[in-house]
Amino acid sequence: MSHWRFPLGLEDLTNTERLTSPQGEFGYKRSYYFHQGIDLYVEGKPDVKVHTVESGTVVAIEDFTGPPDHPHWLYTQAVLVEGKSGVVCYGEIEPLPGIKVGDEIMASTHIAHVRPVIPEGLERPDIFGHSRWMLHLEWYTHGARESVSWHHDDEYPLNLRNPSNMLQESWECEKVLYEKFEPIIANIVKSD
Ligand SMILES: [Zn+2]
Repeated sequence: MSHWRFPLGLEDLTNTERLTSPQGEFGYKRSYYFHQGIDLYVEGKPDVKVHTVESGTVVAIEDFTGPPDHPHWLYTQAVLVEGKSGVVCYGEIEPLPGIKVGDEIMASTHIAHVRPVIPEGLERPDIFGHSRWMLHLEWYTHGARESVSWHHDDEYPLNLRNPSNMLQESWECEKVLYEKFEPIIANIVKSD
């Protein structure tokens, strides 16, 4: 069993109480499909960094939401990285320009920035922690080279895995580390 590092900075999350809302959970039934991943809501700012949860190889970079003139979804991309646990898809992001298929990258490497996926005016204050900006993370078995859709009439996609426990665990670890080291770091900064 391998462990993940949490892909975002805790200070960028919209809340510290829950990993996501019920609507952002894996398998949540939406109007036309089941949610294939987990949404991690972040503050709406252009420099929110996405880090790899484990080391691996970049196996695909794809157009994710959009296209650019879509009425409900803004244009975003996704990066798929294959590592020890399988293939992790980091969606609703903009990859750093230097990232390309075949790159070998370490865990906790900065690979992308979160981009807004929902147009202005379509905010959802009824959803806990919601933001127009989020990392949508999916998890697949080894060999996946593209994200899948999971419509109501589809069979469950066989290579799709539920990342909830992996993410929850990495989030809890990150919070413990943060509480332990944040005061020390704050002190170092202060004494500069
Ligand atoms: Zn999502």
